[in-house]
Formats: sequence, C-alpha cells, structure tokens
Amino acid sequence: MAVQEIPWTPEDHYNAFITICGEAPAGKTGRLAGVPVAVKDNISTQGIRTTCGSRILENYIPPYDAHVVTLLSNEGAAIVGKTNMDEFGMGTTTETSAYGPVLNPVDPTRVPGGSSGGSAAAVAAGMVPMALGTDTGGSIRCPAAFCGIVGLKPTYGRVSRFGLIAYANSLEQIGPMARTVRDVSHMMEVITSVHDPRDSTCRAQPYTHIPQSDIAGMRIGVPVECFGEGVDLRVAESVRSAIGVLEGLGAEILECSIPSMAYALAAYYVICTSEASSNLARFDGVRYGPDVDVKKVWHEAYRDVRMAGFGTEVRRRILLGTFALSAGYHGKYYTKAQVARQNVCRDFTRILSDVDVIAGPTMPTLPFRLGEKTDPLSMYFTDILTVPANLAGIPAISVPCGRVDGLPVGLQVMGRRFDEERVVDVAYAYEQEVQA
Ligand code: GLN
Repeated sequence: MAVQEIPWTPEDHYNAFITICGEAPAGKTGRLAGVPVAVKDNISTQGIRTTCGSRILENYIPPYDAHVVTLLSNEGAAIVGKTNMDEFGMGTTTETSAYGPVLNPVDPTRVPGGSSGGSAAAVAAGMVPMALGTDTGGSIRCPAAFCGIVGLKPTYGRVSRFGLIAYANSLEQIGPMARTVRDVSHMMEVITSVHDPRDSTCRAQPYTHIPQSDIAGMRIGVPVECFGEGVDLRVAESVRSAIGVLEGLGAEILECSIPSMAYALAAYYVICTSEASSNLARFDGVRYGPDVDVKKVWHEAYRDVRMAGFGTEVRRRILLGTFALSAGYHGKYYTKAQVARQNVCRDFTRILSDVDVIAGPTMPTLPFRLGEKTDPLSMYFTDILTVPANLAGIPAISVPCGRVDGLPVGLQVMGRRFDEERVVDVAYAYEQEVQA
C-alpha cells in the first residue's frame, strides 16, 4: 500500500484549519460569550474566505453569514477559524481536501475521519472547546469517533441549512462537535434557538434541554446488522461492553433487525452523487472560481475551469451522479435508490415505535493510517453504519466508548425524528458513568 509523504506535522496544528480569523470583537455577551468556536469551511462566514476544501473556491468570500453562524455570534462566540475538510464534504478521511490532509491528534500517523476532520481535530487537540461540522452521510460522527470526541447529527430539518454550501441537500445537516455531551447539547441549543424561514425544510422546534443521566427503563434496540460483516471485532467488543454499561444503568436492551440496512449504502451513494452533480453545476468559472476564458468554445472553457478547480473524488462523483440521473438510467439507479431509501425510513420508523433509541458502533473500523485507503469503493464501505440515519433523517450521536490499542472507538445512538433529547440523554448517561 502506497503511503504518501505527508508534509504536515502536529506542530502545524494537525492542518486542522484552512483559514484563521483575526481577533474577535471583545466585550460581547451571551451564552457563549468569549468561547472560541471553529466552523467547518463549507459554512458561509461573511467576509471570511469559505473554500469547501476546494481549489475552485480558493478566493471565495461569502457576502453573508450562515444562520448558525449568526446565532453563534449573537451569543458572543468568537469564530476563530474555518476548518479543513474533504473537498465539498466528499470523503471519510479529510484526504480529499485540496489543502492537504488533517492529522489525527490521537495518533498523527492516522486520519481524523471525515469529512469534518478539521473540526474534530481542532476539538480533540484542545484548540477549541467546540466546533461546527456537517453530516451528509456521517461527516460529524465519523471524525468524532476517530478523534475520541462527541458529535451530533441533528434530525433533518432541526437546524437551518441557510448558508451551508450544498453537497446533497436531502441528506445533510449542520451539527455540534465538542469534548463533552454537555457542550454538544449547549451548542445545539444555540444553533436551534431562532427559527429560520430562509430554509423551508427547517421546522420551528428549538432544542432546549439539560442532559439527564437517568435512563432506567429506556428501551434500546441493538440491530444485528450493526455487528455484521466488515465490523472489526475489537470495535464490536468495545461497543458491546458500552451497551452493557447502559444495561447496568437500567436500560432494557433488545436485539432487533433492520433488513433494509443492506441497501442503505448503495442507495446513499446514488442519491448523494445525483444531488452533488446538480449542486456543483453552479461552479462554472462564471459565477464562482477562476475566470473562464470567454474566447474559447463554452463547453471547453467550462471543462478547463472545472478540471483545474475540482479534485479527482469530486469529478468522480459528478460523473457518477450525472450518469445515475441520465435519461436511460434514471429508473435503474435513481428511482431504485429512492425506493430503497423509503424502505430504510419505514424500517427505522417501525423499530423506533417499539424502542426508544438504537445503539451500535459509529464506524466499523479503527482510524486508518494516512494514505492507507486508496480504493474509492473500500472507502465508501466504511460509511455503512452512518448513512442509514441520513437516509431516514433521524438524529444520531457518536460518543467515545473506550480505546483499542490507544485508538478511539465511537458508540452511535440513533433516535426518533426530533427526539435529539433522548439521544443526548443516553450518550450523557454513558459518559457520566464511565467518567465517574
Ligand atoms: N463519507 C460520506 C461521503 O463521502 C459522508 C460525507 C459527509 O457526510 N459529508 O459522502
């Protein structure tokens, strides 16, 4: 396996940031007064470069703030920088960033996970207490698990996506990442506190909750599929013992099955690439990116700008998505993927009417070495346990549950739509118990 030379070192702050911001105005008040917060670089910040980890947006300075950024600033938070990420969120390791990979602070020879790897590394290394990430198919939870921190993907429609540069609109949410469940919960309160009519999928349902550690009598479903093929036995063992801790706290553990999980990954990759191929059409060298050569034939001019501005993985996904949506293949891929998605939603709704939450591993493996995974398909496979929550639109948290050979393992807890409160409580109960 070819391991590429990594020019970045831990002394370079793990390459967690793409842009560092100037001094924040002093004297601000609010629930996050003076708290340094890092923001993933696909979330718009007025006057601050926002690259999405891509060359094509290297010089893009948004004219407005994302809704979540406005809310953080209004509560006194200091936005200290924009974090490194897989290009447009397309990746699981942060290695597709045009600005170089992020190193995992737990072991700098390993990936931090992705695509919100910069946010996770900044939190894990103690550079900031909290950060914003985004999660289309696991991009908050995967790096949280790999870096040993907490990350929450909210219910689809709980947090405004206004100002988020879209990768796959029907799947993604912005969410909090921090070292403790309490901080994640606190940040979640702030980013849902004011309803935003500019995102029509966003419901006016603020999260106001103080984490509770009493989970006695709670029913926790454990799907057999979460411990199936491809799941590292050491990861499975750590997660099973974490579930044992929850049982010790009085929760009722029920084995269950989600058969449609078998199709979730394939459906996810058809849907996310289809949406991406449409979303990324706007980066054409006219409105964004390096200036297109107007003297050339238009399609050649666009091709040149997009070839130079997009990396390999982004181009691969645009091609896959365009193919899946094309007239002759639409029914074979896109429509089928939507049917599979409906089945995933139906299965989760059915199971979550019987149990309160579902628990299992966040990632099937331990963090890989930088440069270790070169084959795109084997990379996609590692998203197998995180994408179902995005397809179903349900909330899901990753909380650290021990280490194997010094490397962190994440416990994932998924819940009913708009029931972040219960998901947070289970993670909190576990965290408090193992810390005590
Ligand atoms: N790894 C997944 C992908 O590449 C998830 C990315 C994300 O959530 N942004 O699509």
